[in-house]
Amino acid sequence: MTFSDQSSVTPTKKSPASSSISQQAQTFQRSEEVSRNLGEPYLQVENVHKTFGQFVALRDIHLDVYPGEFVCLLGPSGCGKTTLLRIIAGLEDQTSGRIIQAGKDVSKLPAAKRDFGIVFQSYALFPNLTATQNIAYGLQNAKESKQKIQTRVEELLELVGLEGFGQKYPSQMSGGQQQRVALARALALSPGLLLLDEPLSALDAQVRVKLRTEISQLQKRLGITTVMVTHDQSEALAMADRAVVMDKGYIAQVGTPRTIYQHPNTPFVANFIGVMNFLHGVVVTSNQVRCGNIILDVSQNEASSNQAVTVAIRPEDIQILRPDSPELALSNVVTAEVQAIEFLGSAYRVTLYPEGNAKELITIELSIQEASKVDLSANSLLKLRFPPERIQVFAA
Ligand code: ATP
Repeated sequence: MTFSDQSSVTPTKKSPASSSISQQAQTFQRSEEVSRNLGEPYLQVENVHKTFGQFVALRDIHLDVYPGEFVCLLGPSGCGKTTLLRIIAGLEDQTSGRIIQAGKDVSKLPAAKRDFGIVFQSYALFPNLTATQNIAYGLQNAKESKQKIQTRVEELLELVGLEGFGQKYPSQMSGGQQQRVALARALALSPGLLLLDEPLSALDAQVRVKLRTEISQLQKRLGITTVMVTHDQSEALAMADRAVVMDKGYIAQVGTPRTIYQHPNTPFVANFIGVMNFLHGVVVTSNQVRCGNIILDVSQNEASSNQAVTVAIRPEDIQILRPDSPELALSNVVTAEVQAIEFLGSAYRVTLYPEGNAKELITIELSIQEASKVDLSANSLLKLRFPPERIQVFAA
């Protein structure tokens, strides 16, 4: 049984019991609505700035996180996401700016006086304590009664799918099990805020995917406001209600995973999230761009004539046309020469040079079925179509 299956577990005191299975199935719609419908933010990061000596680690960070929301801080190494999480926790002082939690300014409160539970990448369990003792640690410090601690620990072990593991020491548990203990410990005092600092990074790929699903479902079920740091974009897309893409200490874009994936507002975001093809071009008219000798119709373009632009299109948005396809007569059909073919199991990833623009490689993905309908071999020529509505144009 996974810990998401356990309907008998009482939700924590500050966390309204939320989802039925059907509500979980609607997470997607909810994600799109989350920032509009959930009222006042539970956590507010206001104008936070952080320097280490001369180095600016965070600049002018504003972020509102709504009750029950799962927000991922995402970005390349060194972009400042861990520093921001540590400032939210009070483990690091901001140079300026404020942190407001549940309407209260906690900016100057030490971590011990703030209302959060945290899970670190390295589990950070006490090696000389059993799972039960690790989970009970905060409850004992809070001077809870023995009976209450025992009941709560049992409840938490069940919540994270570790019934029967209470007497094991960290060294007797797998990485995934240790991280479940760390999660149970973080939830023990029913905090208002759950902070996750790359909690899955140390785990192997299969455990990671399983645990991320379980953490997401648990978070939704408990309704606990959660901020997670990750550098793994697929993790953020899968888990977050909203993702915050950071770059060099600033926020590049905040949005639902779908918005960020489909409507990145800069080439940096487009490139960081998923695979994106970029072609350099020049605007011909408001709805046409020239890339080398290729003229592409585009449906969205705010750049003016003669302006240098970068045209972007996702691999899965490029259509592969069969030799008899009626769409060959449409605009934006490009002939491209196959350079390399990579077998991915369920699909092929193919890199090609478009004719008329031999400098910039493009990548497409074909299902095995699609691949069987075209001549897919080194140096073969494929007809591709770039649907105008799928092309994004960024000022260069
Ligand atoms: P990673 O994914 O590699 O952990 P990150 O986005 O979490 O990266 P941070 O750990 O927040 O990045 O660090 C942001 C920047 O601040 C980095 O350039 C880092 O070297 C710097 N930095 C962080 N902590 C300190 C410190 N205590 N003293 C000096 N510089 C620091």
